[in-house]
Amino acid sequence: MKSQFSINEIKGQSIALQFFETYLRKPETIPPLLILHGPDGVGKWSTAERFCFQLLCMEGTGCMNCQSCKLFLIQQHPDYIQFPVDSKIPIGQDEKEPAEFTIRWLIKKRIQYQPHLSKYRIVLFPDASLINQEAETSLLKTLEEPPSHTRFIFIVDDLLKLKQTIISRGITIPFQFLNRSLVKELSDTLQLPSDVYLGGSLHPLNVPNEVLDIMETQIRESIGDSYRMLELELWLKNYKERHPEWEENFDYQELLESFFLLLIHQYYISEIKNKYEILEIIYEHKEIIHRKTPGLEPFLLSNLFSKLSKFD
Ligand SMILES: [Zn+2]
Repeated sequence: MKSQFSINEIKGQSIALQFFETYLRKPETIPPLLILHGPDGVGKWSTAERFCFQLLCMEGTGCMNCQSCKLFLIQQHPDYIQFPVDSKIPIGQDEKEPAEFTIRWLIKKRIQYQPHLSKYRIVLFPDASLINQEAETSLLKTLEEPPSHTRFIFIVDDLLKLKQTIISRGITIPFQFLNRSLVKELSDTLQLPSDVYLGGSLHPLNVPNEVLDIMETQIRESIGDSYRMLELELWLKNYKERHPEWEENFDYQELLESFFLLLIHQYYISEIKNKYEILEIIYEHKEIIHRKTPGLEPFLLSNLFSKLSKFD
C-alpha cells in the first residue's frame, strides 16, 4: 500500500529528493549529518519528517502499520528526537542532570544508548540556527565521532547561519523555491490566500506581479543566449535606480531574491546541458546575496552573468 506520508508526496524538490531516495535505498550510506537548507516554506521540514518516518519504519517503507510507524505518527517514537523551534537550544548548565532538549541532555541521556526500537536514532533540529554558540561547540565533538546508530538532521534557511566547522562535517542538501503554479496548487490545498504571489515559497514576497512577469520572460528568453544574458544583466543592475513598474515600497533585495528564484526555476525546467552545474553556480551566488554586503551586488551579478553566459 502506498503511504499517505511518503517522501514521494513532496512537490517541487526533485534535487533534494534524489538524495533522500538514495539514502532510503541504502541507509548504510546516510552520513552522520545532513544539512537541509533553502528558503522557508518550501518543504524542508516535511521532507525531513517523512524521511525519518520511512527510515525508522521496521519494514523500511513507512508502512503505517508497524510499531515504529504507529509511534511516530503519534509523536512518541523513542528513537526520534525533535528539538523545539521556539527557543534557543542551550548546552545545559547542570552537567549531572541536564535539562531536556539541551545538548548535554542529548549527549549524556540519549545518544550514547542504542536505539530502542528501530535500527537508527534520528536527531532533528528543525531550526539549527537556534543552537547557541556554546552548545554548537560541544556538539562538534559528537558530530566528529557520532555513534554508528545515530544520524543528525539540521534544517536552516541560510547556510551562513551555521559555523563552517559544522557545515564541513555534513552533507548539504539544497531546497529550492517552488514555481508559481505549484505554489498556487499547494496554497489552495493548504487553504492559504492565493491572491498574493508567494514568491516561490509559502512566505510572501512583495514584488509586484508585473515585475515578476517581466523578469520571468526575460530570463526564459535569455537562457542559452549570451547576448540576451548581457541585456538581462544590465536590466537588473539598472533597475536598482529606475523601477517604473514598482514605485511604491521598492526593495532591491527582494527583487534580487525573486530574480534568483525565477532563475533557478527557469534553468531547472530548461533543456540546457549542464543544468545541475549551472544550478550549483546560481545557488552559490544566491547564498552571497543573502549576506547583503553593501557594494557587493554589482560585482556578484557580473560574476554570475559571466559564468552563466558560458553555457549555451
Ligand atoms: Zn512501518
